[in-house]
Amino acid sequence: MKALVYDAVGAVPAVTEVADPDCPTDGVVIEVRATGVCRSDFHAWVGHDPVALPHVGGHELAGVIIETGADVTRWAVGDRVTTPFVCGCGRCDCCRAGSPQVCPDQTQPGFTGWGSFAEQVVVHAADFNLVRLPDDLDFLTAAALGCRFATAYRAVTGHAAVHEGDWLAVYGAGGAGLSAIMIGAALGLRVIAVDLSAQALQLAAEVGAERTINAADGDPVESITELTGGVHLSLDCAGTATTALQSVRSLRRRGHHVQVGLLFGPSAAPPLPMDRVIAWELSIHGSHGIAAADYPGLLDLVTSGRVQPGRLITDVTDLAGAGNALVAMGDPSPHSGITVALPTG
Ligand SMILES: [Zn+2]
Ligand SMILES: [Zn+2]
Repeated sequence: MKALVYDAVGAVPAVTEVADPDCPTDGVVIEVRATGVCRSDFHAWVGHDPVALPHVGGHELAGVIIETGADVTRWAVGDRVTTPFVCGCGRCDCCRAGSPQVCPDQTQPGFTGWGSFAEQVVVHAADFNLVRLPDDLDFLTAAALGCRFATAYRAVTGHAAVHEGDWLAVYGAGGAGLSAIMIGAALGLRVIAVDLSAQALQLAAEVGAERTINAADGDPVESITELTGGVHLSLDCAGTATTALQSVRSLRRRGHHVQVGLLFGPSAAPPLPMDRVIAWELSIHGSHGIAAADYPGLLDLVTSGRVQPGRLITDVTDLAGAGNALVAMGDPSPHSGITVALPTG
């Protein structure tokens, strides 16, 4: 098969002919019909999130099963599927309690093994991790659901009880942030988007942000507090120490902060204002993807047309184009839409 391979940290990935993957007894091989290019792929490529080399990234995938392992009972060749980016082992306490996204034995296509920037990809513990695509959901949209949209869905709905009319602040209007804005607006939340890029904020307004704040113009916390008295729910989708702290400081009493953006290096451990956390009874949540079992609510939102993740797709390309998109994420102002590659044409 063809795959987008890199053999050193930061080396430009190249489309290369490699061996087809072996099918694990509990897994499947999927022919990849569409795969999104995500910032997490970039973090692996530049070495923030180390992977074994040579490597094939890609974890936002949709495709058709072409082989099933002997132990797989729920799936058959020809099924149209996607999968959360964190795949649980299906056996441990976390998985059995319905939280495979924190499974200690998790696998992640594109991180713990080769991913979907290829014509074929393996998913382990398939009975536990695959999600059947509704007939009317195309592969392109399904790939755009990938980690960012699904993660955003759970970040908005999975940690705090939110009600129509509540304020939601979203720091960072990249793929995850724009998804959260779209989902929040569809659920009737009043959404404030914060970013440093005027272009990203324009997209944010187009997908449902009621207010946009350019953090380059001053302290966004002041503007948010003035406007709302503090928001009910705030997401840091940017993943910096600055935005994580701003997000927490944007909350009203008993508000909820959800950390969505990954934090690396010097940003990894921002100093939280624990004095305010206790005095205002703030809640701090981490959000690490979503369980396959939690997809139905998300798929309902999509197939009913209440949210249109396809609107976030700004580029459709091939495997080589996925490599270019990955490299371009290192630009000072990367573009904020989603690039999706079609590895099998
Ligand atoms: Zn597990
Ligand atoms: Zn991702």
